[in-house]
Amino acid sequence: MNIVLLGAPGAGKGTQAAKLIAEYDIAHISTGDILRAAVKAETPLGLEAKSYMDKGELVPDTVVIGLVKERLQEKDTEKGFILDGFPRTTTQAVALSTELGELGRNIDAAVALTVDSEVIVNRLASRRLCRACGYIGTADDAQCPKCSGEMYQRPDDAKDTVRNRLDVYEKSTAPLIEYYRGADLLADIDGDRPVDEVFADIKSVLA
Ligand code: AMP
Repeated sequence: MNIVLLGAPGAGKGTQAAKLIAEYDIAHISTGDILRAAVKAETPLGLEAKSYMDKGELVPDTVVIGLVKERLQEKDTEKGFILDGFPRTTTQAVALSTELGELGRNIDAAVALTVDSEVIVNRLASRRLCRACGYIGTADDAQCPKCSGEMYQRPDDAKDTVRNRLDVYEKSTAPLIEYYRGADLLADIDGDRPVDEVFADIKSVLA
């Protein structure tokens, strides 16, 4: 099963991706996670990406497309994958389709999580992540409920950066919903509900 997860920052892509990879035993490809790891390791890619990420801007298409192409060559993606945070522009979507065509694979579904922007701003203000296991929680979690690791706030979850990320989403990424609807692959899911309800709906559209 090859899935694209679409939705604004904070719509719940990471949370649902974690549940989907456990359910279907498929690979998780999060361009945000790959880029954050590169920033942390201070690689040339990370140094280039950081300036865009800090401002809530998109990292250039050529860079991100290259990363995903490389990741799709890895063996674990053959059993299926979830793309979380990619594609984010029409150029990326077209490049993905071309690359998958060359690999003899295709997208089975594009799941769009829709959440009102007011809800998103509040969610991101309180979002905290576990430094050790990546668990996505809230400001109410003094430590990670899964592994007791330290919780931290992503620098780009700061209020001003969030507004820019939402603008960028509306301008560059939201049009992909129509792109995938046109390809008859889109499943629209109301993401403003408890995590398990959203997950149950995603599973039923994938069944
Ligand atoms: P995310 O974790 O998906 O919210 O991504 C965090 C940041 O990484 C974004 O705000 C962008 O700066 C960058 N990024 C992640 N995925 C992409 C992508 N597909 N295209 C361009 N930039 C990306």
